[in-house]
Amino acid sequence: MASITLPPGTQLEAGTLQFLSDTRLLWIDGDWIAPKSGKTFPTINPANAQILAEISLAEAADVDQAVQAARKAYETTWRRMLPAKRSTLLWKLADLIEANEQVLAELETLDNGKPLAQARADVKGAVKHFRYYAGWPTKIEGSTIPVSAPNKLVYTKREPLGVVGLITPWNFPLAMAAWKLAPALACGNTVVLKPAEQTPLTTLMLGPLAKQAGFPDGVVNIVTGPGQPTGEAMTLHPDIDKIGFTGSTQVGKKIMEAAAQSNLKKVSLELGGKSPNVIFADASLDAALASLTWSSFYNTGQECTLGSRVYVEAPVYDQVITALRKSAAGLRIGNGLSNPDLGPLISEVQMQRVLGYIDAGKSQGARVLIGGERLQGELSSGYFIPPTIFAHNDDALRIVQEEIFGPVVVLAPFDGYESAISRANNSIYGLAAAVWTQDIKKAHRFAEDVKAGVVWLNGYDLFDAAAPFGGYKQSGIGREMGKSAIELYTQEKAVWVSL
Ligand code: NAD
Repeated sequence: MASITLPPGTQLEAGTLQFLSDTRLLWIDGDWIAPKSGKTFPTINPANAQILAEISLAEAADVDQAVQAARKAYETTWRRMLPAKRSTLLWKLADLIEANEQVLAELETLDNGKPLAQARADVKGAVKHFRYYAGWPTKIEGSTIPVSAPNKLVYTKREPLGVVGLITPWNFPLAMAAWKLAPALACGNTVVLKPAEQTPLTTLMLGPLAKQAGFPDGVVNIVTGPGQPTGEAMTLHPDIDKIGFTGSTQVGKKIMEAAAQSNLKKVSLELGGKSPNVIFADASLDAALASLTWSSFYNTGQECTLGSRVYVEAPVYDQVITALRKSAAGLRIGNGLSNPDLGPLISEVQMQRVLGYIDAGKSQGARVLIGGERLQGELSSGYFIPPTIFAHNDDALRIVQEEIFGPVVVLAPFDGYESAISRANNSIYGLAAAVWTQDIKKAHRFAEDVKAGVVWLNGYDLFDAAAPFGGYKQSGIGREMGKSAIELYTQEKAVWVSL
Protein backbone atom coordinates (compact mmCIF):
# COMPACT_ATOMS: atom_id res chain seq x y z
CA MET A 1 0.00 0.00 0.00
CA ALA A 2 1.12 3.55 -0.69
CA SER A 3 2.30 5.49 2.34
CA ILE A 4 0.17 8.55 3.01
CA THR A 5 1.60 11.56 4.80
CA LEU A 6 -1.16 13.24 6.77
CA PRO A 7 -1.20 16.85 7.98
CA PRO A 8 -0.74 17.05 11.78
CA GLY A 9 -3.94 16.40 13.70
CA THR A 10 -5.68 14.54 10.86
CA GLN A 11 -6.48 10.87 10.49
CA LEU A 12 -8.30 8.78 7.93
CA GLU A 13 -11.25 6.41 8.34
CA ALA A 14 -10.41 2.71 8.30
CA GLY A 15 -12.59 2.37 5.18
CA THR A 16 -10.49 4.93 3.31
CA LEU A 17 -7.25 3.12 4.12
CA GLN A 18 -8.85 -0.20 3.21
CA PHE A 19 -9.93 1.13 -0.19
CA LEU A 20 -6.39 2.29 -0.92
CA SER A 21 -4.77 -0.91 0.26
CA ASP A 22 -4.79 -2.96 -2.96
CA THR A 23 -4.37 -2.29 -6.65
CA ARG A 24 -7.82 -1.18 -7.76
CA LEU A 25 -9.24 -3.49 -10.40
CA LEU A 26 -11.95 -2.82 -12.99
CA TRP A 27 -15.59 -3.20 -11.92
CA ILE A 28 -17.25 -5.41 -14.53
CA ASP A 29 -20.40 -7.53 -14.28
CA GLY A 30 -20.69 -7.02 -10.53
CA ASP A 31 -17.15 -7.94 -9.59
CA TRP A 32 -13.55 -6.71 -9.46
CA ILE A 33 -11.78 -7.92 -12.62
CA ALA A 34 -8.07 -7.62 -13.48
CA PRO A 35 -7.36 -5.98 -16.85
CA LYS A 36 -6.30 -8.48 -19.52
CA SER A 37 -2.93 -6.77 -20.04
CA GLY A 38 -2.20 -6.55 -16.30
CA LYS A 39 -1.20 -2.89 -16.84
CA THR A 40 -1.67 -0.29 -14.11
CA PHE A 41 -1.13 3.45 -13.64
CA PRO A 42 -0.71 5.43 -10.42
CA THR A 43 -3.18 7.94 -9.04
CA ILE A 44 -1.44 10.80 -7.27
CA ASN A 45 -2.22 13.02 -4.31
CA PRO A 46 -1.83 16.54 -5.74
CA ALA A 47 -1.18 18.00 -2.27
CA ASN A 48 2.21 16.28 -2.07
CA ALA A 49 2.78 14.36 -5.35
CA GLN A 50 2.77 10.99 -3.53
CA ILE A 51 1.28 7.90 -5.16
CA LEU A 52 -2.04 6.98 -3.52
CA ALA A 53 -2.85 3.74 -5.30
CA GLU A 54 -2.19 1.71 -8.44
CA ILE A 55 -5.18 1.66 -10.76
CA SER A 56 -5.93 -0.85 -13.53
CA LEU A 57 -5.57 0.35 -17.07
CA ALA A 58 -8.42 -0.84 -19.28
CA GLU A 59 -7.64 -1.39 -22.94
CA ALA A 60 -10.05 -2.06 -25.81
CA ALA A 61 -10.52 -5.74 -24.85
CA ASP A 62 -11.45 -4.78 -21.27
CA VAL A 63 -13.84 -2.09 -22.48
CA ASP A 64 -15.40 -4.72 -24.74
CA GLN A 65 -15.86 -7.06 -21.80
CA ALA A 66 -17.60 -4.27 -19.87
CA VAL A 67 -19.84 -3.46 -22.86
CA GLN A 68 -20.80 -7.13 -23.24
CA ALA A 69 -21.72 -7.32 -19.55
CA ALA A 70 -23.76 -4.12 -19.89
CA ARG A 71 -25.53 -5.39 -23.04
CA LYS A 72 -26.43 -8.68 -21.38
CA ALA A 73 -27.76 -6.92 -18.28
CA TYR A 74 -29.73 -4.50 -20.48
CA GLU A 75 -31.43 -7.23 -22.50
CA THR A 76 -32.01 -9.73 -19.71
CA THR A 77 -32.87 -7.69 -16.64
CA TRP A 78 -32.64 -3.92 -16.54
CA ARG A 79 -34.83 -2.82 -19.44
CA ARG A 80 -37.58 -5.11 -18.17
CA MET A 81 -37.31 -4.13 -14.53
CA LEU A 82 -40.48 -2.52 -13.18
CA PRO A 83 -40.05 1.24 -12.91
CA ALA A 84 -40.92 1.28 -9.20
CA LYS A 85 -38.17 -1.27 -8.56
CA ARG A 86 -35.63 0.90 -10.42
CA SER A 87 -36.72 3.80 -8.19
CA THR A 88 -36.16 1.76 -5.05
CA LEU A 89 -32.67 0.74 -6.16
CA LEU A 90 -31.68 4.33 -6.99
CA TRP A 91 -32.93 5.50 -3.60
CA LYS A 92 -31.00 2.70 -1.86
CA LEU A 93 -27.83 3.69 -3.71
CA ALA A 94 -28.36 7.27 -2.49
CA ASP A 95 -28.67 5.97 1.07
CA LEU A 96 -25.44 4.00 0.74
CA ILE A 97 -23.55 6.97 -0.70
CA GLU A 98 -24.84 9.01 2.23
CA ALA A 99 -23.79 6.34 4.74
CA ASN A 100 -20.28 6.37 3.24
CA GLU A 101 -19.95 10.16 3.13
CA GLN A 102 -16.79 10.37 5.20
CA VAL A 103 -14.88 7.69 3.27
CA LEU A 104 -15.98 9.06 -0.10
CA ALA A 105 -15.05 12.61 0.94
CA GLU A 106 -11.62 11.53 2.18
CA LEU A 107 -10.94 9.58 -1.01
CA GLU A 108 -12.02 12.60 -3.08
CA THR A 109 -9.82 14.97 -1.11
CA LEU A 110 -6.80 12.68 -1.36
CA ASP A 111 -7.29 12.08 -5.08
CA ASN A 112 -8.39 15.53 -6.23
CA GLY A 113 -6.91 17.81 -3.55
CA LYS A 114 -10.11 19.70 -2.72
CA PRO A 115 -10.84 20.76 0.88
CA LEU A 116 -12.59 18.04 2.87
CA ALA A 117 -15.68 20.17 3.58
CA GLN A 118 -16.10 20.79 -0.16
CA ALA A 119 -15.63 17.08 -0.90
CA ARG A 120 -18.37 16.37 1.66
CA ALA A 121 -20.61 18.88 -0.09
CA ASP A 122 -19.97 17.02 -3.37
CA VAL A 123 -21.04 13.74 -1.74
CA LYS A 124 -24.23 15.38 -0.39
CA GLY A 125 -24.91 16.75 -3.88
CA ALA A 126 -24.51 13.26 -5.38
CA VAL A 127 -26.99 11.88 -2.83
CA LYS A 128 -29.54 14.55 -3.76
CA HIS A 129 -29.03 13.78 -7.42
CA PHE A 130 -29.72 10.07 -7.00
CA ARG A 131 -32.79 10.85 -4.88
CA TYR A 132 -34.14 13.29 -7.46
CA TYR A 133 -33.75 10.74 -10.28
CA ALA A 134 -35.13 7.94 -8.06
CA GLY A 135 -38.45 9.72 -8.55
CA TRP A 136 -38.31 9.60 -12.35
CA PRO A 137 -38.67 5.94 -13.50
CA THR A 138 -42.40 5.97 -12.74
CA LYS A 139 -42.92 9.26 -14.57
CA ILE A 140 -41.31 8.71 -17.99
CA GLU A 141 -44.38 8.92 -20.18
CA GLY A 142 -45.32 8.91 -23.83
CA SER A 143 -48.33 10.58 -25.42
CA THR A 144 -51.13 9.97 -27.88
CA ILE A 145 -50.89 11.88 -31.14
CA PRO A 146 -53.97 13.24 -32.96
CA VAL A 147 -52.96 12.12 -36.50
CA SER A 148 -55.19 12.99 -39.43
CA ALA A 149 -55.20 9.47 -40.95
CA PRO A 150 -58.55 7.67 -40.56
CA ASN A 151 -58.85 4.71 -38.17
CA LYS A 152 -55.36 5.02 -36.79
CA LEU A 153 -54.21 5.31 -33.20
CA VAL A 154 -50.70 6.67 -32.71
CA TYR A 155 -48.98 6.65 -29.36
CA THR A 156 -45.38 7.29 -28.34
CA LYS A 157 -43.14 5.61 -25.82
CA ARG A 158 -39.93 6.90 -24.29
CA GLU A 159 -37.48 4.01 -24.27
CA PRO A 160 -33.92 3.70 -22.98
CA LEU A 161 -31.05 3.98 -25.46
CA GLY A 162 -29.37 0.72 -24.39
CA VAL A 163 -25.74 0.68 -23.28
CA VAL A 164 -24.40 4.15 -22.53
CA GLY A 165 -20.76 5.13 -22.04
CA LEU A 166 -20.19 7.87 -19.47
CA ILE A 167 -16.87 9.75 -19.42
CA THR A 168 -16.15 12.25 -16.64
CA PRO A 169 -13.49 14.86 -15.73
CA TRP A 170 -11.33 15.24 -12.62
CA ASN A 171 -12.64 18.46 -11.10
CA PHE A 172 -15.83 17.08 -9.46
CA PRO A 173 -15.33 13.34 -9.89
CA LEU A 174 -18.18 11.95 -7.79
CA ALA A 175 -20.60 14.76 -8.63
CA MET A 176 -20.02 14.41 -12.38
CA ALA A 177 -20.48 10.63 -12.16
CA ALA A 178 -23.78 11.17 -10.30
CA TRP A 179 -25.03 13.75 -12.81
CA LYS A 180 -24.76 11.11 -15.53
CA LEU A 181 -25.26 7.79 -13.79
CA ALA A 182 -28.49 8.70 -11.96
CA PRO A 183 -30.54 9.75 -15.02
CA ALA A 184 -28.99 7.08 -17.28
CA LEU A 185 -30.04 4.33 -14.84
CA ALA A 186 -33.41 5.91 -14.07
CA CYS A 187 -34.23 5.76 -17.79
CA GLY A 188 -33.41 2.03 -17.97
CA ASN A 189 -29.97 2.13 -19.61
CA THR A 190 -27.02 0.05 -18.49
CA VAL A 191 -23.71 1.81 -18.14
CA VAL A 192 -19.98 1.68 -18.75
CA LEU A 193 -18.52 4.55 -16.72
CA LYS A 194 -14.97 5.90 -17.05
CA PRO A 195 -13.71 8.42 -14.50
CA ALA A 196 -10.79 10.72 -15.30
CA GLU A 197 -7.44 8.97 -14.88
CA GLN A 198 -6.38 11.60 -12.31
CA THR A 199 -9.32 10.87 -9.97
CA PRO A 200 -10.70 7.33 -10.29
CA LEU A 201 -11.19 6.46 -6.59
CA THR A 202 -14.66 7.67 -5.62
CA THR A 203 -16.19 6.52 -8.91
CA LEU A 204 -14.73 3.04 -8.40
CA MET A 205 -16.42 2.87 -5.01
CA LEU A 206 -19.81 3.29 -6.71
CA GLY A 207 -19.48 -0.22 -8.23
CA PRO A 208 -19.67 -2.22 -5.00
CA LEU A 209 -22.17 0.27 -3.55
CA ALA A 210 -24.49 -0.34 -6.52
CA LYS A 211 -24.16 -4.09 -5.96
CA GLN A 212 -24.91 -3.67 -2.25
CA ALA A 213 -27.98 -1.59 -3.16
CA GLY A 214 -29.23 -4.56 -5.21
CA PHE A 215 -28.55 -3.47 -8.81
CA PRO A 216 -28.25 -6.59 -11.00
CA ASP A 217 -24.70 -7.46 -12.10
CA GLY A 218 -23.66 -5.75 -15.32
CA VAL A 219 -25.96 -2.72 -14.94
CA VAL A 220 -23.08 -0.54 -13.67
CA ASN A 221 -19.58 -1.24 -15.04
CA ILE A 222 -16.56 0.95 -14.31
CA VAL A 223 -13.40 1.00 -16.42
CA THR A 224 -10.35 3.07 -15.56
CA GLY A 225 -7.58 4.51 -17.70
CA PRO A 226 -6.64 7.57 -19.71
CA GLY A 227 -8.39 9.03 -22.74
CA GLN A 228 -6.20 6.84 -24.88
CA PRO A 229 -6.71 3.93 -24.94
CA THR A 230 -9.65 3.62 -22.52
CA GLY A 231 -11.91 6.57 -23.38
CA GLU A 232 -11.24 6.23 -27.09
CA ALA A 233 -12.12 2.50 -27.02
CA MET A 234 -15.49 3.50 -25.58
CA THR A 235 -16.17 6.21 -28.15
CA LEU A 236 -15.28 3.83 -31.01
CA HIS A 237 -17.14 0.80 -29.63
CA PRO A 238 -19.89 -0.30 -32.05
CA ASP A 239 -22.19 -1.56 -29.29
CA ILE A 240 -22.26 1.58 -27.13
CA ASP A 241 -25.39 3.52 -28.05
CA LYS A 242 -24.50 6.87 -26.53
CA ILE A 243 -21.64 8.73 -24.90
CA GLY A 244 -22.42 11.19 -22.11
CA PHE A 245 -19.29 13.29 -21.70
CA THR A 246 -18.07 16.08 -19.46
CA GLY A 247 -14.63 17.52 -20.14
CA SER A 248 -12.73 19.86 -22.41
CA THR A 249 -14.06 21.24 -25.67
CA GLN A 250 -11.04 19.80 -27.48
CA VAL A 251 -11.80 16.23 -26.35
CA GLY A 252 -15.54 16.80 -26.92
CA LYS A 253 -14.78 17.38 -30.60
CA LYS A 254 -12.79 14.11 -30.76
CA ILE A 255 -15.72 12.28 -29.20
CA MET A 256 -18.09 13.56 -31.86
CA GLU A 257 -15.67 12.43 -34.56
CA ALA A 258 -15.30 8.95 -33.05
CA ALA A 259 -19.07 8.66 -32.61
CA ALA A 260 -19.58 9.54 -36.27
CA GLN A 261 -16.85 7.16 -37.45
CA SER A 262 -18.11 4.16 -35.47
CA ASN A 263 -21.88 3.60 -35.15
CA LEU A 264 -23.20 7.18 -35.13
CA LYS A 265 -23.77 6.83 -31.39
CA LYS A 266 -25.57 9.72 -29.75
CA VAL A 267 -23.48 12.21 -27.81
CA SER A 268 -24.18 14.77 -25.13
CA LEU A 269 -21.34 17.08 -24.23
CA GLU A 270 -20.75 19.34 -21.21
CA LEU A 271 -17.60 21.24 -22.16
CA GLY A 272 -15.43 24.19 -21.25
CA GLY A 273 -16.39 27.69 -20.25
CA LYS A 274 -15.09 31.23 -19.79
CA SER A 275 -18.06 32.70 -18.06
CA PRO A 276 -18.64 36.46 -17.74
CA ASN A 277 -19.54 37.87 -14.35
CA VAL A 278 -20.85 41.41 -14.92
CA ILE A 279 -21.14 43.92 -12.06
CA PHE A 280 -23.04 47.14 -12.75
CA ALA A 281 -22.51 50.25 -10.65
CA ASP A 282 -26.12 50.03 -9.44
CA ALA A 283 -25.60 46.54 -7.97
CA SER A 284 -25.83 45.77 -4.29
CA LEU A 285 -22.05 45.74 -3.98
CA ASP A 286 -22.12 43.94 -0.64
CA ALA A 287 -23.87 40.97 -2.24
CA ALA A 288 -21.70 41.05 -5.38
CA LEU A 289 -18.48 41.23 -3.38
CA ALA A 290 -19.58 38.52 -0.96
CA SER A 291 -19.97 36.15 -3.91
CA LEU A 292 -17.02 37.31 -6.02
CA THR A 293 -14.20 35.51 -4.21
CA TRP A 294 -15.87 32.12 -4.52
CA SER A 295 -17.17 32.69 -8.02
CA SER A 296 -13.58 33.45 -9.04
CA PHE A 297 -11.58 30.84 -7.12
CA TYR A 298 -13.81 27.98 -5.85
CA ASN A 299 -12.21 24.55 -6.36
CA THR A 300 -8.94 26.39 -7.07
CA GLY A 301 -10.55 27.76 -10.21
CA GLN A 302 -11.02 24.28 -11.64
CA GLU A 303 -14.71 24.59 -12.34
CA CYS A 304 -16.25 25.01 -15.77
CA THR A 305 -18.85 27.60 -14.69
CA LEU A 306 -16.64 29.93 -12.64
CA GLY A 307 -16.83 33.63 -13.41
CA SER A 308 -13.32 33.75 -14.79
CA ARG A 309 -14.00 36.98 -16.77
CA VAL A 310 -15.22 39.78 -14.51
CA TYR A 311 -16.48 43.02 -16.05
CA VAL A 312 -17.10 45.91 -13.65
CA GLU A 313 -18.82 49.20 -14.50
CA ALA A 314 -16.22 51.98 -14.36
CA PRO A 315 -17.54 53.96 -11.36
CA VAL A 316 -17.13 50.98 -8.98
CA TYR A 317 -14.17 49.25 -10.68
CA ASP A 318 -11.49 50.37 -8.20
CA GLN A 319 -13.69 49.51 -5.22
CA VAL A 320 -14.33 46.00 -6.58
CA ILE A 321 -10.67 45.38 -7.38
CA THR A 322 -9.57 46.50 -3.91
CA ALA A 323 -12.15 44.30 -2.18
CA LEU A 324 -11.38 41.21 -4.27
CA ARG A 325 -7.67 41.65 -3.77
CA LYS A 326 -8.16 41.78 -0.01
CA SER A 327 -10.48 38.78 0.23
CA ALA A 328 -8.34 36.67 -2.15
CA ALA A 329 -5.25 37.43 -0.07
CA GLY A 330 -7.11 36.11 2.99
CA LEU A 331 -7.91 32.69 1.49
CA ARG A 332 -6.21 29.81 3.29
CA ILE A 333 -4.39 27.45 0.93
CA GLY A 334 -3.22 23.97 1.87
CA ASN A 335 -3.66 20.22 2.02
CA GLY A 336 -7.38 19.53 1.61
CA LEU A 337 -7.40 17.21 4.62
CA SER A 338 -6.69 20.15 6.93
CA ASN A 339 -9.70 21.94 5.43
CA PRO A 340 -8.29 25.13 3.94
CA ASP A 341 -10.30 27.36 1.57
CA LEU A 342 -8.37 26.21 -1.51
CA GLY A 343 -6.40 23.05 -2.28
CA PRO A 344 -3.80 22.36 -4.97
CA LEU A 345 -4.28 22.07 -8.70
CA ILE A 346 -4.95 18.56 -9.89
CA SER A 347 -1.55 17.73 -11.43
CA GLU A 348 1.89 18.91 -12.45
CA VAL A 349 0.60 19.17 -16.03
CA GLN A 350 -2.32 21.38 -15.02
CA MET A 351 -0.11 23.52 -12.78
CA GLN A 352 2.36 24.10 -15.63
CA ARG A 353 -0.52 24.91 -17.97
CA VAL A 354 -1.86 27.54 -15.55
CA LEU A 355 1.64 29.00 -14.99
CA GLY A 356 1.99 29.19 -18.78
CA TYR A 357 -1.21 31.27 -18.97
CA ILE A 358 0.02 33.53 -16.18
CA ASP A 359 3.23 34.12 -18.17
CA ALA A 360 1.19 34.79 -21.31
CA GLY A 361 -0.93 37.33 -19.41
CA LYS A 362 2.15 39.13 -18.15
CA SER A 363 3.91 39.13 -21.51
CA GLN A 364 0.79 40.37 -23.34
CA GLY A 365 0.61 43.34 -20.97
CA ALA A 366 -2.04 42.48 -18.36
CA ARG A 367 -1.26 43.62 -14.81
CA VAL A 368 -0.94 41.01 -12.02
CA LEU A 369 -2.47 42.44 -8.86
CA ILE A 370 -1.92 39.45 -6.62
CA GLY A 371 -0.51 35.90 -6.92
CA GLY A 372 1.10 34.67 -10.11
CA GLU A 373 3.83 32.36 -8.76
CA ARG A 374 3.86 28.73 -7.62
CA LEU A 375 3.82 28.48 -3.81
CA GLN A 376 7.08 27.45 -2.18
CA GLY A 377 7.96 26.51 1.41
CA GLU A 378 5.99 23.71 3.02
CA LEU A 379 3.58 23.50 0.05
CA SER A 380 6.36 23.16 -2.53
CA SER A 381 5.92 19.40 -2.92
CA GLY A 382 2.31 19.88 -4.08
CA TYR A 383 0.82 21.67 -7.08
CA PHE A 384 -0.14 24.95 -5.41
CA ILE A 385 -0.75 28.29 -7.11
CA PRO A 386 -2.36 31.09 -5.07
CA PRO A 387 -5.36 33.15 -6.23
CA THR A 388 -4.15 35.31 -9.09
CA ILE A 389 -5.89 38.49 -10.27
CA PHE A 390 -5.17 40.19 -13.58
CA ALA A 391 -6.38 43.67 -14.50
CA HIS A 392 -6.65 44.38 -18.25
CA ASN A 393 -8.65 46.22 -20.84
CA ASP A 394 -8.07 44.10 -23.92
CA ASP A 395 -10.49 41.23 -24.58
CA ALA A 396 -8.20 39.79 -27.25
CA LEU A 397 -5.67 38.59 -24.66
CA ARG A 398 -5.26 34.81 -24.39
CA ILE A 399 -6.03 34.93 -20.65
CA VAL A 400 -9.35 36.57 -21.51
CA GLN A 401 -10.31 34.27 -24.38
CA GLU A 402 -9.03 30.84 -23.34
CA GLU A 403 -10.17 28.60 -20.50
CA ILE A 404 -7.35 28.54 -17.91
CA PHE A 405 -8.98 26.20 -15.38
CA GLY A 406 -6.97 27.46 -12.43
CA PRO A 407 -7.15 30.17 -9.76
CA VAL A 408 -6.80 33.01 -12.24
CA VAL A 409 -9.44 35.68 -12.75
CA VAL A 410 -9.30 38.60 -15.17
CA LEU A 411 -11.05 41.92 -14.48
CA ALA A 412 -11.79 44.80 -16.82
CA PRO A 413 -13.82 48.01 -16.52
CA PHE A 414 -16.73 48.79 -18.87
CA ASP A 415 -19.02 51.73 -19.65
CA GLY A 416 -22.73 51.07 -20.09
CA TYR A 417 -25.01 48.13 -20.97
CA GLU A 418 -24.13 47.74 -24.67
CA SER A 419 -20.44 47.44 -23.92
CA ALA A 420 -21.11 44.96 -21.11
CA ILE A 421 -23.26 42.63 -23.18
CA SER A 422 -21.04 42.67 -26.26
CA ARG A 423 -17.96 41.92 -24.15
CA ALA A 424 -19.79 39.21 -22.20
CA ASN A 425 -20.73 37.51 -25.48
CA ASN A 426 -17.26 37.86 -27.01
CA SER A 427 -16.27 34.23 -26.41
CA ILE A 428 -16.33 30.86 -28.17
CA TYR A 429 -17.91 29.52 -24.96
CA GLY A 430 -21.43 29.98 -23.59
CA LEU A 431 -21.76 27.88 -20.46
CA ALA A 432 -22.77 30.33 -17.72
CA ALA A 433 -23.07 34.06 -17.01
CA ALA A 434 -24.02 36.32 -14.14
CA VAL A 435 -25.14 39.90 -13.78
CA TRP A 436 -25.29 42.08 -10.66
CA THR A 437 -27.70 45.03 -10.77
CA GLN A 438 -30.67 46.30 -8.77
CA ASP A 439 -32.41 47.37 -11.98
CA ILE A 440 -34.79 44.50 -12.64
CA LYS A 441 -35.31 45.46 -16.28
CA LYS A 442 -31.58 45.52 -16.95
CA ALA A 443 -31.17 42.14 -15.25
CA HIS A 444 -33.82 40.47 -17.41
CA ARG A 445 -32.58 42.19 -20.53
CA PHE A 446 -29.13 40.75 -19.81
CA ALA A 447 -30.64 37.29 -19.25
CA GLU A 448 -32.26 37.55 -22.67
CA ASP A 449 -29.24 38.94 -24.52
CA VAL A 450 -26.44 36.82 -23.06
CA LYS A 451 -25.50 33.66 -24.94
CA ALA A 452 -25.15 31.17 -22.12
CA GLY A 453 -26.95 28.01 -21.00
CA VAL A 454 -27.37 29.22 -17.42
CA VAL A 455 -27.67 32.80 -16.18
CA TRP A 456 -27.60 33.96 -12.58
CA LEU A 457 -29.21 37.31 -11.77
CA ASN A 458 -27.67 38.62 -8.55
CA GLY A 459 -26.14 35.28 -7.63
CA TYR A 460 -23.52 32.79 -8.76
CA ASP A 461 -23.01 29.04 -9.17
CA LEU A 462 -26.48 27.95 -8.12
CA PHE A 463 -27.43 24.39 -9.06
CA ASP A 464 -30.26 22.00 -8.39
CA ALA A 465 -30.89 18.49 -9.68
CA ALA A 466 -34.22 19.75 -11.08
CA ALA A 467 -32.85 22.73 -13.08
CA PRO A 468 -31.40 22.14 -16.58
CA PHE A 469 -27.71 22.81 -17.10
CA GLY A 470 -25.56 22.89 -20.24
CA GLY A 471 -23.80 25.07 -22.74
CA TYR A 472 -24.41 27.37 -25.70
CA LYS A 473 -21.79 27.59 -28.47
CA GLN A 474 -18.65 25.49 -27.87
CA SER A 475 -19.63 24.78 -24.26
CA GLY A 476 -21.64 21.75 -25.22
CA ILE A 477 -24.57 19.87 -26.67
CA GLY A 478 -27.60 18.85 -24.61
CA ARG A 479 -28.80 19.71 -21.12
CA GLU A 480 -28.17 17.66 -18.01
CA MET A 481 -30.30 17.65 -14.85
CA GLY A 482 -34.05 17.94 -14.46
CA LYS A 483 -36.38 16.60 -17.13
CA SER A 484 -33.81 17.51 -19.79
CA ALA A 485 -31.56 14.63 -18.73
CA ILE A 486 -34.47 12.20 -19.18
CA GLU A 487 -34.57 13.31 -22.82
CA LEU A 488 -30.78 12.81 -23.06
CA TYR A 489 -30.99 9.18 -21.95
CA THR A 490 -34.16 8.04 -23.76
CA GLN A 491 -35.41 7.87 -27.33
CA GLU A 492 -38.93 8.28 -28.60
CA LYS A 493 -40.81 5.55 -30.47
CA ALA A 494 -44.05 6.20 -32.37
CA VAL A 495 -46.43 3.23 -32.54
CA TRP A 496 -49.18 3.15 -35.23
CA VAL A 497 -52.21 0.97 -34.60
CA SER A 498 -54.74 0.16 -37.35
CA LEU A 499 -58.14 0.16 -35.69
P1 NAD B 1 -10.50 16.25 -20.56
O1 NAD B 1 -11.35 16.58 -21.71
O2 NAD B 1 -9.04 16.23 -20.72
O3 NAD B 1 -10.87 14.80 -19.99
C1 NAD B 1 -12.20 14.47 -19.63
C2 NAD B 1 -12.38 12.97 -19.74
O4 NAD B 1 -12.22 12.57 -21.09
C3 NAD B 1 -11.36 12.15 -18.93
O5 NAD B 1 -12.03 11.05 -18.39
C4 NAD B 1 -10.37 11.72 -20.01
O6 NAD B 1 -9.69 10.53 -19.71
C5 NAD B 1 -11.31 11.52 -21.19
N1 NAD B 1 -10.67 11.58 -22.50
C6 NAD B 1 -9.55 12.27 -22.86
N2 NAD B 1 -9.29 12.06 -24.18
C7 NAD B 1 -10.26 11.23 -24.65
C8 NAD B 1 -10.54 10.67 -25.93
N3 NAD B 1 -9.79 10.92 -27.00
N4 NAD B 1 -11.63 9.88 -26.05
C9 NAD B 1 -12.43 9.64 -25.00
N5 NAD B 1 -12.21 10.13 -23.76
C10 NAD B 1 -11.14 10.93 -23.58
O7 NAD B 1 -10.98 17.22 -19.41
P2 NAD B 1 -10.39 17.37 -17.96
O8 NAD B 1 -9.06 18.01 -18.10
O9 NAD B 1 -10.52 16.07 -17.22
O10 NAD B 1 -11.45 18.36 -17.29
C11 NAD B 1 -11.40 19.72 -17.46
C12 NAD B 1 -12.35 20.17 -18.54
O11 NAD B 1 -13.67 19.72 -18.24
C13 NAD B 1 -12.46 21.67 -18.63
O12 NAD B 1 -12.44 22.07 -19.96
C14 NAD B 1 -13.81 21.97 -18.01
O13 NAD B 1 -14.40 23.17 -18.41
C15 NAD B 1 -14.60 20.80 -18.41
N6 NAD B 1 -15.74 20.61 -17.52
C16 NAD B 1 -16.99 20.93 -17.99
C17 NAD B 1 -18.09 20.78 -17.18
C18 NAD B 1 -19.47 21.10 -17.69
O14 NAD B 1 -20.43 20.68 -17.06
N7 NAD B 1 -19.61 21.82 -18.79
C19 NAD B 1 -17.95 20.32 -15.87
C20 NAD B 1 -16.67 20.01 -15.42
C21 NAD B 1 -15.57 20.15 -16.27
